[in-house]
Amino acid sequence: MDFTNHPSDPTRHEEVLRCLFRESNDAFFLFEPQSLRVIDLNPAALRLTAYDRKQALQLRVTELFDSEDPKAVDRLIEAYRKTHIFHSREEYLLRRAEGEPLAVNLSASRIHTEPEPIGLVVVRDISERRKAQDTLERFFLLSPALFGIVSPGGQLLRGNQAWESVLGYTAEDLKSTPVTDLVHPEDRELAATTIREAGGEMSSREIRCRHKEGSDRWLSWSISRVGDIRYLVALDVTATKEAAALRLAKEAAEVANRARGQFLSSMSHELRTPLTAILALVDVFLADPASRSLPPDRRIDLQAIHRNGEHLLGLINGVLDLARIDAGKVILERSACDPSRIVAEVAEMLRPRSVEKRLGFRVEILSPLPGSIRTDPMRLRQILINLVGNAIKFTDRGEVAIRVEAPSPETLRFTVADTGVGLTEAEIASIFQSFEQVQASRHRSEGGSGLGLAISRRLAEAMEGTLTATGEPGRGSTFELTIPVEILETPHGPECRECSEAGQMDQRPASDAGVSRILLAEDNADNRRAIGLRLEQEGLDVATARDGQEAVDAAMLGEEQGTPFDMILMDMQMPVLDGFEATRQLRQKGYRGQIVALTAFALEEDRLECLRLGCNHHLSKPIEWGKLIDLIQNAAAAPG
Ligand code: ADP
Repeated sequence: MDFTNHPSDPTRHEEVLRCLFRESNDAFFLFEPQSLRVIDLNPAALRLTAYDRKQALQLRVTELFDSEDPKAVDRLIEAYRKTHIFHSREEYLLRRAEGEPLAVNLSASRIHTEPEPIGLVVVRDISERRKAQDTLERFFLLSPALFGIVSPGGQLLRGNQAWESVLGYTAEDLKSTPVTDLVHPEDRELAATTIREAGGEMSSREIRCRHKEGSDRWLSWSISRVGDIRYLVALDVTATKEAAALRLAKEAAEVANRARGQFLSSMSHELRTPLTAILALVDVFLADPASRSLPPDRRIDLQAIHRNGEHLLGLINGVLDLARIDAGKVILERSACDPSRIVAEVAEMLRPRSVEKRLGFRVEILSPLPGSIRTDPMRLRQILINLVGNAIKFTDRGEVAIRVEAPSPETLRFTVADTGVGLTEAEIASIFQSFEQVQASRHRSEGGSGLGLAISRRLAEAMEGTLTATGEPGRGSTFELTIPVEILETPHGPECRECSEAGQMDQRPASDAGVSRILLAEDNADNRRAIGLRLEQEGLDVATARDGQEAVDAAMLGEEQGTPFDMILMDMQMPVLDGFEATRQLRQKGYRGQIVALTAFALEEDRLECLRLGCNHHLSKPIEWGKLIDLIQNAAAAPG
C-alpha cells in the first residue's frame, strides 16, 4: 500500500512519516537552509552524535562534519548551495559529543515546504564497513601472496607489496603494465589465455614469471572475473617446485646409481670368472714341482702374470666396493669378535712383507682391550690391511708399528705408524679421494690402485668412526682409525701381550686337518680344472660336479655308500640347479658336511643368503688360497 500518496488519508500519511523519522537507523538532521542551523534531529542522530537535544540545536550542520581532506566540508557546502543536493563519496566523518569521529556517508537535500524550504541531511554510519575494508586493505597490501586487479586489456591496475618482494618491481612501477610482460616467454601464451578466459569461478595455473634481476619464479595464479575486471591472486611456489625438481633429480640419480651398481657388480662378476681360472692355473703351475725346472725367466714371467692378475683383481674389488659404498649398499655385519685377534691376523698376514723389506715390525697393545666386541670384523680387517700394507709399501727403512688402545670404554683406536716417505699437508688432503696417488716424483710407483684409502675412510665412516692421517715428508706417516664398539666381554690384560706375538701361520698341508674328501661343484670347466688341481696339490681327494644337481646327487651317493664328502665347495651361479637351491636340498636331505659357498658376485646380500640356506662359509672368487686352506684346516677343529 502506498501510504505516502494516499490522498484520502493525510493524517495517516503524516503518522507514517513521523514514524520513519523516529525509527530510522539513519541519522536525520533538519536544518535551516540559510543559516545552516540544525532545527530538528531524530533519535538515531542523537544516538550517533551523543549530543543531547539542546546542545545539538545550537549547532550549524556544517559543524557536525569533518574530513581528512580539509577542503571537503567547503566542497559540501558549495555543492549544496548550488544544487540543493549533495551525495558524499564516503570521505566524511561525523563529529560527536564524545568518542572518536565516525566514518559516515552523508547526503543533503532540500525539502520544499511552505513557506520556507527545509534542509535535510541523512547520515549513515559506515564505520563498521570501513573497518572491515581497512582490514581487507591491510591484508591486501601486506599479504605474501601477490594480489592484482587487472584491466580487461590485461594491465595491472593495482597490486600489493608482494609484487616487489617476489618479482622485484613495486606495484607503482607496474601500474598499467601488461601482466604478461612479467611472464617467462614460454608461458606468455598460457598467461594471456588465463587472463582472457577468466570466469566467475577461480581458475588456477602454474606460470613462470621473471624476477627483475632475471631469475625465474614459479607462481601459482588464481584468477577470477567480476564484470570486466580480473582479480589475480598469485602464490610464489618456486621453493616447492624446486624441491620437487630436486626430489625428481635425486630419484633419477638413485635409479642411475642403482643401475651403475648393478652394472658394476655384473661386470665384476664377468671379470672375476675368467680371472679365477687364470690365477688358479698360474698358482697350479707355480706350485707344481715341475715348474722349478723351468728357465728362471719363465718362472719370473709366471709370477708377473700372477702379480698382475692379483692387481687386476684388487682393482675390480676396489671399484665394486666403492660403487657399493656410494650406492649406500654397505650392510655392516655385527658379529662378536676379538679385536686383539683381528690385529694379530692382520699382522701375521703382512709381517712377511716387512721382513722382506728388512723393516722392523711391531704390534703394541697400549691399554687393556675388551676380549670380545661386536663390530664388522671383515671391514675392520680390510681397513687395517690397507693401512699396514701401505705403511710397508711406502717405507724403505725403519719400522712399521701397529698400536691399539681403548681411549674410552666403548672406543677402540688403531694407529699405524711408519718411518717411510711421509706425507705433505696437500697429500693428506687428497689421498682419501678415489684414484688419488701421490705424485710419482715423491713416491716410487708401487702399483696401487689409489682406491684403498677412499674405501677405508668410507668404511670407517659407515662404522661411525673416523680415519685420519698425519705425517711429514721424509719423516713417516701415521694413520689413525677410531671406531665406537659394543663391548661384549670386558678387557682382559695379559692375553693381549700374546696377540702382539701373533702366532705363526699354520704350515701343515690342508689334508692333515681331517678334511680329506672334497666335492667341487663348478660349471666353468677351466675353473673346475684349476681349482681341482690346486686342491690336489694340497693332498686332498677331489671329485667334481658340473652343476647343482650333480652336486646333490654325488653328495647323497657318498653319504649312502659310506664315503661322505667332508666339504663341498659350491659355486653359487650354476645351470640346472644353482648353488643356493642345491645347498637347500642338501641340508634338507641331511647332508652334514661343510658347505663353502663360492661366488663371483661379492654382494653382501648373496653372502647372507648363502649362510641362511645352510652354507658354513662364504668365499668370493677368485679364491684366496690362504683363506680356503684356513677354512679346510679349521673345519677339522669344528665340524659342521
Ligand atoms: P694405493 O693403492 O695407491 O696405495 P691408497 O688409497 O691406499 O691407494 O693410497 C693412496 C695414496 O696415499 C698412495 O698412493 C700413497 O701415495 C699415499 N699413501 C698411503 N699410505 C701412505 C703411507 N703410509 N705413507 C706415505 N704415503 C702413503
